[in-house]
Amino acid sequence: MLNTTMNTQTYLSDFLTIFRRKNAAQHVFIQAVEEVVRTLAPVLDKKPQYIKERILERMVEPERMIAFRVPWKDDNGEIHVNRGFRVQFNSALGPYKGGIRFHESVTADSLKFLAFEQTFKNSLTTLPLGGGKGGSDFDTRGKSADEVMRFCHSFINELYHHIGYHTDIPAGDLGCGAREIGYMFGQYKKLTNDFTGAFTGKKPNWGGSLLRPEATGYGVAYFAQNMLATRKDELKGKTCVISGTGNVGIYTMEKLTQLGANVVGFMDYDGSVYDKEGINAEKLAYLKDLVFVRRGSLKEYVQKYPHAHFRPGQKTWDIACDCAFPTACENELDGAAANTLLKNGCRLVCEGANMPSTPEAVQAFQQAGILYSPGKASNAGGVAVSGLEMTQNSMRVYWSREEVDAYLQRIMASIHTSCLQYAAEFARPGDYVAGANIAGFLKVADAMIDQGLV
Ligand code: GLU
Repeated sequence: MLNTTMNTQTYLSDFLTIFRRKNAAQHVFIQAVEEVVRTLAPVLDKKPQYIKERILERMVEPERMIAFRVPWKDDNGEIHVNRGFRVQFNSALGPYKGGIRFHESVTADSLKFLAFEQTFKNSLTTLPLGGGKGGSDFDTRGKSADEVMRFCHSFINELYHHIGYHTDIPAGDLGCGAREIGYMFGQYKKLTNDFTGAFTGKKPNWGGSLLRPEATGYGVAYFAQNMLATRKDELKGKTCVISGTGNVGIYTMEKLTQLGANVVGFMDYDGSVYDKEGINAEKLAYLKDLVFVRRGSLKEYVQKYPHAHFRPGQKTWDIACDCAFPTACENELDGAAANTLLKNGCRLVCEGANMPSTPEAVQAFQQAGILYSPGKASNAGGVAVSGLEMTQNSMRVYWSREEVDAYLQRIMASIHTSCLQYAAEFARPGDYVAGANIAGFLKVADAMIDQGLV
């Protein structure tokens, strides 16, 4: 039994001991919770009611977790069985909202971490969105479109019981784009006989928001712009590297390029490309066709642009840059990579993926005093435009690209302001990690108290 009258540090340390014991095998979930909890001491000091109400204990338990079997047949008639999950983490601020990840690495652990992060991220967007995440250990790479469709239909045959426009609204994530959302929505509609915006990331010709595919990446670039402005600096002329060339990476590159930065390094599953001349509109069009249409490898980029180098199996963090944008997956940037970036003069790290920097890397960036933002703040543009897609679906209207972009820029600027405001209020000026955690926490915690013990 925890003694909630003890001082905050002792309470937090006891809380973490029990939390770690209860979730012993769930390493990334533990990492995500520890990262949040270590920044909350000043908040609990100021308002011990959060301790008395057991807000942390309640916040780290998902409200509901669904785990299910997903059987499907490949093109040769062979039967396969994958695991499906949906973690409905927190609905204090609105219906559960978050993506679906299709990747062999998906487990209950990874989805609990992602759903926990999503709860804070969604709180930061200022929109009425709870937090959730789902997915399967199914890998879309190497599968035919028919196989992907059969899998998605089977996945929804179970998941449709648990989602809905006012309950839980899935979207895309790693391995799950507009094609997969289309197949899932189709089956959902068939089973429920109901055409509502129960998914976001739909294609714009049947309910999707314009700019949703671009939103996470564009939002990352806008957030970096805001960060640099605090040091009277700008993206124009900056040498940049990114990591993953999925949806987030490609559109981060596009906006950075439009804002006058020079992206010289990027990577995929096979390795990285160093193109010292940088990306331009023509190269981006080539990359979009390669990645989104042909689903090819970056190895092909250097056949088209022979002056660039392909570095098999290597990441981008050793390429000298002013600004780095991790846009692939959790823990992709470790302490050694962080030190290499810093040694080469990197002054800003703005995360496009969820928790891509290890705790050692975060510590290195913060100690060096460079601008560093956690994904839950800087990559919130995607889910924010998902929120706008829900609004448009409810109103049965479509907004123009310009209207959505103006909202997105306003939301990213407001997240940036909240991070700095809460960091300063709780004696951590300029600390985007503390600011994002505290701002996200307070909104969810207060709503939970208002709604009582549910
Ligand atoms: N998967 C995205 C994220 O990590 C988007 C979620 C959504 O649009 O619901 O934020």
